[in-house]
This record gives sequence, C-alpha cells and structure tokens, in this order.
Amino acid sequence: MKRIISFLMVLVLTPNFLLSKNIGTYPDYQKIIESTNLNLQQQAKYYEQFREVLGDSKNMDNYDVTYYKIDININIDTEFIESEITMSALICEDQTAEIEMNFTNNLTVTDIQQNGTSLTFSHADEIITIQLDDTYNIDNMIEISIQYEGFPDTKLSDGMKFESHSGNPNVFTMVSPKGARKWWPCKDTPADKPDSLDIRITYPEEYVCASNGLLIEHVNNGDGTVTDKWHESYPIATYLTSLAITNYQIYSQIYTSGDETMPIDHYLFPELYDTCVNLFSITPDMITFFASVYGEYPFLSEKYGHALCANLSCLAMEHQTCTSFRSGYVGDPGAESTVAHELAHQWAGDCLSIGSWAHVWLKEGFARYSEALWAEYLYGTQGLHDFMNALDTGSNLDPCLYRDPDGSASQIFNIVIYSKGAWTMHMLRSVLGDDDFFATVYNLMQDPQYKYGNFLTDDLGDMAESVSGMELDWFFHEWFYNEGRPFYRFATYTSDIEDSLIITTQSEGTHGYNFAMCLPVCVNGNEHSIFADSGFSYNTLPLASTLDSLLFDTDNWVLDGGYNEMVPILDEIEASRGSILLVWQDFFDPQIEGFNIYRKQAGEEYIKINSETVTGISYFDENV
Ligand SMILES: [Zn+2]
Repeated sequence: MKRIISFLMVLVLTPNFLLSKNIGTYPDYQKIIESTNLNLQQQAKYYEQFREVLGDSKNMDNYDVTYYKIDININIDTEFIESEITMSALICEDQTAEIEMNFTNNLTVTDIQQNGTSLTFSHADEIITIQLDDTYNIDNMIEISIQYEGFPDTKLSDGMKFESHSGNPNVFTMVSPKGARKWWPCKDTPADKPDSLDIRITYPEEYVCASNGLLIEHVNNGDGTVTDKWHESYPIATYLTSLAITNYQIYSQIYTSGDETMPIDHYLFPELYDTCVNLFSITPDMITFFASVYGEYPFLSEKYGHALCANLSCLAMEHQTCTSFRSGYVGDPGAESTVAHELAHQWAGDCLSIGSWAHVWLKEGFARYSEALWAEYLYGTQGLHDFMNALDTGSNLDPCLYRDPDGSASQIFNIVIYSKGAWTMHMLRSVLGDDDFFATVYNLMQDPQYKYGNFLTDDLGDMAESVSGMELDWFFHEWFYNEGRPFYRFATYTSDIEDSLIITTQSEGTHGYNFAMCLPVCVNGNEHSIFADSGFSYNTLPLASTLDSLLFDTDNWVLDGGYNEMVPILDEIEASRGSILLVWQDFFDPQIEGFNIYRKQAGEEYIKINSETVTGISYFDENV
C-alpha cells in the first residue's frame, strides 16, 4: 500500500449514536435483507440476458472532459429522440488529432462539428472515432458538438426507457454501469467526470421532468412542448446523469444545516402520493444523520430527492441529487433502508466516485454499511448486529470483492460487492475501533484529494493507516482479493506462575486463502482483542484465576467460518498390569515442546508419571 502524506481534516463531528432513538416497530432485518437480496439476484439474472460486448474507454486517455451539455428533444408518443451534445475537453497528449467516444450503434450520428466546421468521423462497435480539425497538444482545449437521432433501444439492460403507470407514459434513463452511451455520446467512465453538466430537455407540456442539479429555466415553446434547463454545478459521473418524465406530483421538504437550507423534492406518481410521503418524509432526518457521519451533504447548493420510475431494473439508483426509485417498491418493509442506501451514495459513489469498476465494492460496501449505521442509529447495537448478521448469507459471499473492470453489468454487480462489501467495512471498524473508523470515513469523504473526484480501495486503506497509525496492507489485500472466509483452530494453555493465558490460533481459509485478522475474544467475561496471523499465532492475555470460559467474536464482528478448539486426540490405549502404551495424533501446534502424562485413581490427585518431557506421538511405560 502506498504511503502518502495526505492532508488530514480535523474531525469536528462524530456520529452520536447515544442520541439513537427507538421509533416504530422493530424491523425484521432478516426479511428485509432476504427481500433486497432477492431483488439483487433478479437484477443479476436480468443483466445476464445482456452480455453485451461494449467497446470500452481504453483509448480515451488523450483527453480529459471538463464539460458536457445535453440538448434532447423527446417525442414520447413515437419514442423518437433528436439530440445534440457539446463536450469541452483538455487535451492530455501531444500530437492529438483523433479522439474516441462511447456511443451506441443504435442511434445515428448526423453531424459532428468543431469551430463551426463538420468533422470526419466513423461510428462502429459502440465507438465514435473523430478526426479533429487540427493537431492539438497538452493543455489545449477543444469543444465539439455531436448531433444524433433515432429510436433508443428500450430492450437493452440500460439506457432510455419508455414505460407507463396507470395509463400515463413514464420516460426515464437508467444507465448503471455502462449505459450513458446508450442515449448520449460520452467518455463513459466514472474516472473522468466533467466539472459541470447542463441538460436541456424538450418534452410534452402536460408532464413534469426531474433531472440532476437545479432547474434553472422552464420555457413553454407554444407548440405543445416545454423545455427545461437543468444545471449540475458539481462534477458528475456519466452513469449518474438522469432524466425522468411523467405526470409527477412534487412533494417538497427542506433540509436545514446551520444557517443554510436546501430543497428536497420528491417526484411522485399521483396514485402513490400518500404512500411515498409516508416513506420519503424521513429524508431530512436521514441527511442530518449521514452528514454527522460523513460530513455535510455534498450537493448542498442544489437539492436532493427521489423520482419514481415504473419497472426500474433495480430497486433504486443513486442518480446525483435525484435518486430514481422503483414505484412498485415504495410500500415494501425494506424501502426505508433503500432510501438510506441511495442517500449514502451521494457521498460514496457520487461525490467520491470509484476510479474503476474493479472497485465497485467501495461504493456499494459504503452504502450497504450505511444502512447498518442507520439501523444502529434507530435501534442501537442490536439494530447494527441484527442487520449485519442478516447480511451474512454464507457461501454465496465467497467470491472476491475485486471485479473485472471490463466485465458486463452482470459480472460487475452481484450480492458479493454489497454484502461482503458491507462486512469489510464492518470488520475495518472492528480492527480500527470506533474513533479511528469514523475519523477515517469522515476524513476520506472530506479530503480534497478525493472529494468530487475519484477514489480506490488503496485510498481508503491509506486514510485508515494515516488515522490509526496501523499497517493495514494485510487487511485490504485479503478482503479485496481472497475468496472464501477464514476459520480458526485454537488451543489454550494457562500458566499459574505468570497468571496468564496463552492462546494458540491457526488460521485457514475455506478456499485455500489465508487470512490474518483481529479477533475479539471474551475470557471469563472480559473483552480482549488478539491478532491472529495468517498462520500460527501466540497471544498472551492476563488471567488471575482459572479459565472458566473463552468465547470468540460473541458480537459477530468477523466474517468467519467458526472456531474449533483443538485437544490432543488419543488413538490407542493399551494397559496391562504395571505398563501402559499411549498413541495420539500429532498436535496442530508446532511450538508444543512435549507432553506430560498424568495418572489419576479414584480418590487420588493427578500424579505425573513421566520423568522427562514426552516428545513424539506415543508413550510407553512399564513401571506405572
Ligand atoms: Zn448501491
């Protein structure tokens, strides 16, 4: 792990779980998580149908996008779109005469212009290759505009959707992870975020449109259409851009932070208005809570809110400042937890975007663990642990967190990045302790190196190391790359002379990978933490009395496969008058120097019968 000197924000706020409030009926987290996991599996199956080979963004390092404008006219009746995008970019390589952009083959590019002249281009394999009007060098700025039109392919896993609810059309975009290119040409990677974005949307006047950032202009065109201009003033990843149109009824709230206020606008189907108000009214309290954990809401000068979408392919999607929410899910017992999940993404995923899809667990682990933190806020440690225990669904969490960044949606998204991702955050908290864990996540979210930009697994690791002073390569390496989970063999030895307890542990993984881990252990009711290395470890703990009880990980902080106490196992006992033969299995602890053999008869104390320490795996004595 690279050691970097990073600017550490002073921790001014810590989540105050002492203020946790018990409200309402205690949720059945087992059922809630079963239901969301089922949806994740259905989503994965849905994605399975679309093993699209997408021309990726590999040859796009020669420019850095600074701005996009999307100007789109949507004919809802015919499902035909006419659109123009403008892109400003900084050239990053000398002698750049050609650039590539991601764009679906399904829509037709009619013209590409730069400085008022049409450019030569080709369009194949989901890539537009554009010959610029000149050769450009590092730090030159270019601006190009692309006109295109056609019928978006609505049968794809992502892109623009034409759905309906109660007889009303509902147009929306849902493009995670690699589908922005299905409705507008772009450099479709979260690693290159424009500094800002404008979206102008022309649509029938009887409807209402929701999008990213703030609505700064609403014009009636006098021809039965209106044009909205939305401005996103913060950097935004392409997969987080969105629009949603139908006969929305808006439910507005206010988030207050000190002297500042921010609108919260929920775009609701009229027939679900009351159900949605019931669900979303918690939003200001949730923003206050997550602001206490991660720092102020990152898009405070704009807004937050939700837009209902019919038949959204996932339960909800964290579009920047405007989460899309599946209309059929709003009455579900798990919906509030999903509201927390998507809101937490505004920090982890949207403000700090992953630098590569290989690290998708970072945003999903943060968001899923934020649901657990919300459960802890509401119901204390029982809420936290019940939620986390329900997330441990056994062997289907065995695959590693690392994803192939060039993979399809079904390869990138599965239950592992959510549940094991949350468990990795939970275990990091256990290793660091609460103070350092919450300082780590707060400082990470507020560090100017990452805020409004990108982060990777190493960046979380570096921050955890700089906050705690611990070396944590082992932790991040094994939980990011290893498959399976660790299980432990252990043996205990007490020493009356030193009033101590020695615990020998041996770690093995269910899939042949070894895991080191800090293990919580409770000895005679007293809590300790021991470091179990990836092989054998020997830890000494104080023990003034006899050992009455020893329990590992009673609160379940480790995603483990169990703890087995080891004792020497006798294979053979042959006793005759005056002699004895004992044969036992080799004991697992390599530091055992030997054994003592004791004899005990009824009414007597134990009497040691060997004169010298016994080594090997047998003992014969003909003089007992
Ligand atoms: Zn998520």
